[in-house]
Amino acid sequence: MGYIVQGRNNLLLVDNPASDTPMQNKQLFYFKEEDKYFHAHTGEWFTELELEALDNMEKAWRNSLPAPTFFELLDMFGPECYGAVKRRLSSEKKYFKQAFIDEHARRDRYYKEIITPIVGDPEQYIATEEMLEHGHKEAIAFIQKETKRVRFQLYFVRDLQKKEAARKKGLALPVETKSDRITEADVMVAKQVPIETVFPGKLRKMGSRAMAQCPFHSDRSPSFVVYLNTNTWHCFAGCEGRDTIDFVSKIQNVSFLEAVKQLCHK
Ligand SMILES: [Zn+2]
Repeated sequence: MGYIVQGRNNLLLVDNPASDTPMQNKQLFYFKEEDKYFHAHTGEWFTELELEALDNMEKAWRNSLPAPTFFELLDMFGPECYGAVKRRLSSEKKYFKQAFIDEHARRDRYYKEIITPIVGDPEQYIATEEMLEHGHKEAIAFIQKETKRVRFQLYFVRDLQKKEAARKKGLALPVETKSDRITEADVMVAKQVPIETVFPGKLRKMGSRAMAQCPFHSDRSPSFVVYLNTNTWHCFAGCEGRDTIDFVSKIQNVSFLEAVKQLCHK
């Protein structure tokens, strides 16, 4: 498309013949005598070949731009985009659902308006119907393909969202405050803490033993004995326990883990 602009050189305003890029439109003036194009914005002269080269350069640049796929986009933007992607897909789903209905309505209307009036002309009738059915089939196939894509992408995004929610739930669990885990060495250290140092009250030492009233039952006569050599204890009334760890655990009513931590100051 072009038109003559009145002037000294008989200008011809043209669309860039090599380009379909709207930006280039109406910036180029063709001068018949020079057989060249004048770029009104830059003041440069171009031959047709140079314009084509320029155009190829632009196309190459355009192709070099990143064009992320659906999955790459999700990856790039992460959970923040899931909601927006879902909304867009939902409206696309609606659009294709309507397009399916519309396409059938269009075919019905065409039958009424175009096919029915030419029923008396078999040759034209068959050709027109064939054309109509062909177009209809193509449109439906496209709609079905797009619907399938949208459904899959929706399913995919919903699944990602579920996983993200589960991950967040996991993160919401109480945060560990002390990460100093006890080790077997700690258990050994705790075991070796002398029982008499954690015993509330007085122990009466007799050689390699120490006696006291048992703190675990109401004891009148001393039935609690500590064997100092092995650092173990025993209650003759039958209170259960053997060493420092279960003594602390029992007397403070704490778990094995807490007793060990306390005994080795972790
Ligand atoms: Zn006892």
